[in-house]
Amino acid sequence: MAIATVKTEDRSRASKLPRGTRDDEPYLTKEELAGMVLAYQPDADRALLHKAYEFAREKHGDQLRQSGDPYYSHPVRVATLLASIRLDQATIMAGLLHDTVEDCDDVDLEQIETLFGTDVAELVDGVTKLGQLEYQSEASKQAENFQKFILATVNDIRVLLVKLADRLHNMRTLHFKKKEESRHRVARETMDLYAPLARRVGLHYVASEMEDLSFKHLNPEARGQILSQLETLESRNKDDLERIRLAIRQVMEREGIECRIKGRRKEPYSIWRKLEKKSISFEDVADIFGFRVIVNSTPECYRALGAFHTEWACLPDRFRDFISVPKPNGYASLHTTVRASGNRLVELQIRTEEMDDTAERGVAAHWTYKNSAYGFDIDSSRAAGLDPSANLRAFGELLTHGGDANDFLEHAKMEMYRTHVFAFTPNGRLVLLPAGSMPLDFAYAVHTAIGDTCDGAKINGVPRNMRTPLQNGDVVEIIRREDPRPMPGYEALCVTGRARAAQRKLRRELEAQQFANLGRNMLERAMRQHEIDPVGVDMRMVSERAGFDGVQAMFEALGRSHDEVVRILDVAFPGLDVVADAGEPKVVLDDDHVSGMIAGENLTPGVTLHLGECCHPIPGDRIVGVRQPDKGLVVHTIYCGKVAEFDDRPELWVDLQWTELAKSGVRAIGRISVNAADNKGVLAQQCSVVAQAGGNITGVSTHAREPGFMELVFDIEVDDLRHLEQIKAALRALAVVERVERLEESEFE
Ligand code: MN
Repeated sequence: MAIATVKTEDRSRASKLPRGTRDDEPYLTKEELAGMVLAYQPDADRALLHKAYEFAREKHGDQLRQSGDPYYSHPVRVATLLASIRLDQATIMAGLLHDTVEDCDDVDLEQIETLFGTDVAELVDGVTKLGQLEYQSEASKQAENFQKFILATVNDIRVLLVKLADRLHNMRTLHFKKKEESRHRVARETMDLYAPLARRVGLHYVASEMEDLSFKHLNPEARGQILSQLETLESRNKDDLERIRLAIRQVMEREGIECRIKGRRKEPYSIWRKLEKKSISFEDVADIFGFRVIVNSTPECYRALGAFHTEWACLPDRFRDFISVPKPNGYASLHTTVRASGNRLVELQIRTEEMDDTAERGVAAHWTYKNSAYGFDIDSSRAAGLDPSANLRAFGELLTHGGDANDFLEHAKMEMYRTHVFAFTPNGRLVLLPAGSMPLDFAYAVHTAIGDTCDGAKINGVPRNMRTPLQNGDVVEIIRREDPRPMPGYEALCVTGRARAAQRKLRRELEAQQFANLGRNMLERAMRQHEIDPVGVDMRMVSERAGFDGVQAMFEALGRSHDEVVRILDVAFPGLDVVADAGEPKVVLDDDHVSGMIAGENLTPGVTLHLGECCHPIPGDRIVGVRQPDKGLVVHTIYCGKVAEFDDRPELWVDLQWTELAKSGVRAIGRISVNAADNKGVLAQQCSVVAQAGGNITGVSTHAREPGFMELVFDIEVDDLRHLEQIKAALRALAVVERVERLEESEFE
C-alpha cells in the first residue's frame, strides 16, 4: 500500500536496469548481450562476443546451477550486470568466461588467450585467483585486511568488478544452496568482504543489495521486523511524504532550476547497523525522509542548496560538501538535512546527472569509450565536476603513467597499499605487515608465543633465511622451538616494533638467567673449595643473610659481578675462613683423576701427571707429556706454546693418548676466546648458545680489544673435544661473532 502512494524512481531501481539483469527475467541471448554492449561501445566485436558466449555455453555443457538453470546462465547474468555498468568488451567477455578455467576440465588459460586475447585471459586469471582466496571470518580486523589484500593484489580494477558481479549473482541465487552452513558462510563473506569492496569502488547499489541479501540469510528475523516497521511508518507518513515532495518541486520551480526528484528508501540493513551502533530508536533512524535532487550543472547544485536553506532551517552539522571534496571513490554530491514544515527532518542529496552516474556506477563510470582505447577517462571525471588528478590520487593513488589516460589500464596497479605486505598463515589467516617485514615480524603478528619460540621459517613451503623480506601472498610457516628464546642477531631480523620489543624482553630474561647460572656455578665452586657441599646448603638462607631478595637475585648479582663470592660466604657462614678464589678456572679433570685417563708407551708407572694450566687439555685433544723435574709429567696439547719451549729437548717428551675411560663420562674444561662486536647482550647471546649446545660455563671474563669489539674468554665444561668443537661452531654461527679460538698459552695472558 505504501509502495503505491510513494512513487519514486528509486523504488523501481531494478527495473531501470537493462533487461536481463534481474533474475526473474530470462537471461539474455548472445544477440541481446552483444547488442547491449554495442549500444555503448559501437566498435565492439560482435562476433567475438558471440564466440565468448558460445564458448561458455559449450564448455559448461550440461552442468547445472543449484537453481536448476543451466550453468552458463550464471556467466551470462554476470556479463549482463557488467554491461549494465557499461564496462568494456574485454570485461564483458571475462564475465562470460570467468568460471571456465576453474570449473571446466578441458579449458586452460592458454586456450582463452589464443581465442580471446591476452587482455581477456589476464582478467579471467585474476578472477580465478581471487576465487581461490580462502577467507576465514574470525575478526573484523581480518575482513579489513582481506579487503586491503584484494585491493593490493588485484592489479586491474576490472578483475574486482567482475568478481563483484559474480558475487552479486551468487548472492541472488544463494537461497538455492541446500546447506544452511554454506549459505551462512557465503553471506558472511559477502557482508564482511565484498559489500565493503563494492562500496569502496563506489558501486553503492551493488553494495546495498549484497548487504540486504546477506542480512536476509544471516538475520532474517531482524530484517523482517525492520521491514514491517518500515511499512507501518511509510503508510503513516504517506501524506507527509507527498506534501514534502511537492514542496521541493515548488522551491525548484520558483528558482527556475530544472530537476529530477528521487525518493530514497531506507535499507533495512543500514537501519539495523545504526540501531546496533547507536542507542537510538527505530523512529530516530527511519523517520527521516530522504530525497535526491538531480540538476543539470554544478552551479545549479549550489543554487538549489541555497534555495532549500532559504526555505527551511538546516541542521548545520549535517551539511557535507562532497563536490569540492569528493570521496576517495569519486563520489560527489551535496548532503544537507533540513527541518521542513510539520517539523519534518528531510535529508537532501543534490547532484548532477554525471555525479549521479558516478554514485551508481562508481569507478566504472570513469571507464568510457574513447579513441578505441579504454582507460580511466580524465575528461569524463572532469565533466563530472571532479578534479581528475585529485580524484586519481584519492582513488587508491592509482598510478597514472605519465598522465596519459590511454596508458592507464596497463599501469592501473593499485598502489594504495605499497607500504604494506600481505602474508598468510598455513591455514589461510591473512596477516598485514609493514613492507619489508620478515618472518620474525610475521611470527609476532600472529601471536607473541609464536614469535617467542620462533626458530626458523618456511615461505611457500620452502625453508628460508630469516632475513627474507616477505612478498604479497606469501604463505609463512613458523618453525618453533620448545622454549622461548630470542633469535640470535634479531635486530637485523625484524622491522616491527612489536617483534623488536618482544625479542628485547626475551633477551633480557635470558641474560638474567645466564648470569644467574654463572653466579650459581661460581658460588657452588667456592663452597666446594671450602669443603661445603652445595647440595646440603639452603640457598634461601644464604641469600637472605647476604641481603638478597631471593636466590635468583643473588645468583644474578654474582654472575653480573655486582657482588662477590667472598662476601656472601662470609656472611652466610660466619667463622668460616674464606679465601678468595684466584679466579683461575678450576679443572674438573683434576690431577687425581688423571691416572687411568692417560696412557703412553713410555709412561713410567707411578709418575705424577699434571694437566697444563696453560692449555687445559681435554679428552680428545692430541696431547704430549713434558717431563719436568720438580713436577713430574705435565700434559699439554701438542699446539700449546709451552711445548714449543721444549722443542730442542725432545728427550723430555713423552707420547700420550687419552684412554677410552677419559673419552667417556668425565667432563673437562676447555677455554675458548671469542671475538665479537661489542653489542649489548652479546654475552647473554653467547651464554645462551653455549648452554643450548650442552656446555656449562664455569668462568667468563671480558676484555676490550679494539673499538667496537670485545674479547670474551669462556671456561666451558664439556664432554670432550668434539663437544667443544660443536660449541665453537655454534658460536661462530652468531652474526656478531668474528672469531672463535681455543685459547693457547701464547694468547693467554
Ligand atoms: Mn561465478
